[in-house]
Amino acid sequence: MASVQQKIIIITAPSGAGKTSITHHLLRQFPQLAFSISAATRQARAYEQDGKDYYFITLEDFQHKIQHNEFVEWEMVYEGKYYGTLKSELQRLWDNEQCPLLDIDVKGAIHVQQQYPETSLSIFIEPPSIDELKRRLLSRGTETEETLQARVNKASYELSFKNHFDKVILNDDLPRACAEAEAIIREFLS
Ligand code: 5GP
Repeated sequence: MASVQQKIIIITAPSGAGKTSITHHLLRQFPQLAFSISAATRQARAYEQDGKDYYFITLEDFQHKIQHNEFVEWEMVYEGKYYGTLKSELQRLWDNEQCPLLDIDVKGAIHVQQQYPETSLSIFIEPPSIDELKRRLLSRGTETEETLQARVNKASYELSFKNHFDKVILNDDLPRACAEAEAIIREFLS
């Protein structure tokens, strides 16, 4: 088995499936895990901090990093909005003897998995239904009608990829889903 420095855990799901809540739970449970901070070109939300939630960068800066091969993977997750995992971020966490925990979209997750087939664990969080997903996104209050529809359309598409991942966790009950994720990760890190 690889040492903790070389391992990667990828949590992926359609947006609104609860992966952020599960990610936070896991980060509290396992001190050897660390959130992999992605680079993103979207605007920061009011509660978000640069360098903690994301590295918020300009489109020009993002394109420069693509050209210089600085990403493990990157995607235009939403129209005109780019997100990517920086090689330097994974290295920073490994140097810290921590295992990076990536909260990324489905296509990005498949790319990371392909690059680290032996040392990655990929977990797909499945929402109970598209209606429930819509309800969760609405209650989060961060979406306009347009972005809500885009996220719901994308979610339906992403659900079709669930069997590409090492583990699938149905999030019909958050504490139960967290406990399941915890057990899977405990085994992976042992
Ligand atoms: P949000 O804008 O709500 O923070 O995130 C939108 C989506 O982008 C989420 O599904 C999130 O997991 C995904 N995402 C965040 N960082 C990355 C990244 O580095 N790469 C990819 N491919 N997706 C990401």
